[in-house]
Amino acid sequence: MAELGALPRWDMTPVFPSLESTEFRTSFDRATAEIQALVPVFEAHGVRRRERADVDTAVVAAFEEVTGRLNSLSLELRVLRSYIHAFVSTDATNEAAQSLQAEFEAGAVTLEQLRIRYTAWVGTMDVEALVAQSPVAREHEFVLRKSQVQARHQMPEGEEALAAELLPAGLSGWARLHDSVTALLTVPVTVRGEARTLPMSAVRSLANDPDREVRRAAFEAELKAWEGVSVPLAAALNGVKGYQQVVRRRRGYTDDVEPTLLSNNVDRETLEAMQAACIEAFPDFRRYMRAKARALGLERLAWYDVSAPVGKGARTYTWDEAEGFLREQFGQYSDRMAAFADRTFRERWTDAEPRPGKQGGGYCMPVRPGESRIFVNYDGSFNSVSTLAHELGHAYHNLALEHRTALQSRTPSTLAETASIFCETLAVDAALKGTEGEERLALLEASLQRDLMVVVDIHSRFLFEQRVFERRAERELTPREFNELMLQAQRDTYGDGLDPDALHPYMWAVKGHYYGPTFYNYPYTFGLLFGLGLFARYQEAPDGFHAGYDDLLSSTGMADAASLGQRFGIDVRGVEFWRSSLDVIRKTISEFESLVSQLESAGKR
Ligand SMILES: [Zn+2]
Repeated sequence: MAELGALPRWDMTPVFPSLESTEFRTSFDRATAEIQALVPVFEAHGVRRRERADVDTAVVAAFEEVTGRLNSLSLELRVLRSYIHAFVSTDATNEAAQSLQAEFEAGAVTLEQLRIRYTAWVGTMDVEALVAQSPVAREHEFVLRKSQVQARHQMPEGEEALAAELLPAGLSGWARLHDSVTALLTVPVTVRGEARTLPMSAVRSLANDPDREVRRAAFEAELKAWEGVSVPLAAALNGVKGYQQVVRRRRGYTDDVEPTLLSNNVDRETLEAMQAACIEAFPDFRRYMRAKARALGLERLAWYDVSAPVGKGARTYTWDEAEGFLREQFGQYSDRMAAFADRTFRERWTDAEPRPGKQGGGYCMPVRPGESRIFVNYDGSFNSVSTLAHELGHAYHNLALEHRTALQSRTPSTLAETASIFCETLAVDAALKGTEGEERLALLEASLQRDLMVVVDIHSRFLFEQRVFERRAERELTPREFNELMLQAQRDTYGDGLDPDALHPYMWAVKGHYYGPTFYNYPYTFGLLFGLGLFARYQEAPDGFHAGYDDLLSSTGMADAASLGQRFGIDVRGVEFWRSSLDVIRKTISEFESLVSQLESAGKR
């Protein structure tokens, strides 16, 4: 990839000189010792569910000490976790880093048990009295009020401790089974006349191939391979959903969605308003799918056409060009954002170079306060430039949280995508300017492909999971039943946009999300639509937007989504706001449709 210029690897040395350094070891040992030191402190102060809510000066003093120590410990642990992960994720052969990660996670179990006790403790205090007497409590008022609700939903202390201790062997054991089976899965497939055996990930990425025969062959080979491992994966999924349901019921939540609303800082009204607006937009997404079929010269899209490329790929960007482009576009927004992008490039926060042993995908992780590291596999396509913009958005969000405590910065997934979608939209908008014809078509298509995933496919995942929970309450499901529920969820969402005989019954085996947190995906729909809605507000009235926006980002762990939205006149509980965000996508769909027609009639296709 010489034509892209030298791709940076991230510089971790400002944090610690190396994994083997005394500085790292000292910090690691200090954090581990502090976790252990907190155990007697918790005992001495009786940090657990309280029988009486009243608060006196001794309680206030204990509250301030314990909260302060938990906050500083969490910050130190975050640096260590990110630092170790920086090596694990870029070098699969680094066994030392992997052992440290395992050692780190083992220590984290004790801390998790303490955190549960802390929630029970502060959740059973008289919050009004505490806030009146303690400045620390005032700064953490949202966390305290949330803890009150969480504390009502805790099992007795011993049972919560048992659940936390069983987690690695129970819930996460099933997830690791899914990971290992999937990672080791190889698939015999014939590509362009050549019989080969490829890893599942490579077969799945053939979905982007321009040749339909290749996509179809890969799809059929993929389904066959999933069928071969469907028994252990179904056992894993039954295990995960069964575990989650038992714990949820014991915690006294009315249904399986309720705990996720609490952890995402949204209420049911908000989720339902958002989903109603999404369902209303499904016919528009079907228009997009029909137009894409036309662009590909097909009657109707099959599942394996959804990721097919359309149009002529936009120009490629060398690394220097990507830096220049993003610096300029962020500069259109504000000098602060441009200066920030510059800092990340100058201090080499990004690991951009794809190489053997490095994981796939992209993410951004916070390190020290205000400082992040960005992980991408840069290939010069506009897609990877917009991924970089997205991850820089997360880093900008971390900067906004620089002066918050660990407890104040706990941002739920719903709000964690606000800044990333905002920056991604800045980049896409800029790239579209002055682009026409096939190149414009490709850019619009890439953007709509993302929207289709986040709005339509994620809703299918929600329906699937909800129906799985319903049946799982009675008994375990067979692989065939998982398949049937998946097909039904796809029909209910993609509708006639896709060929009903070419759907993907094994998406429950593909997506690791089903083996992780409950209803992992819908917060991303929230994130996309909230980010798009904010961007629309910015375009309507750029003056005075900036300070409010930075303030919002710095408060994502300190208020629920509804109150944060209100600051911008956004009512997340009403369908209207979500509809207006989806209107932005509708506009893109209409433009895509007319561009396809235009290119057709010009005989260019
Ligand atoms: Zn993101």
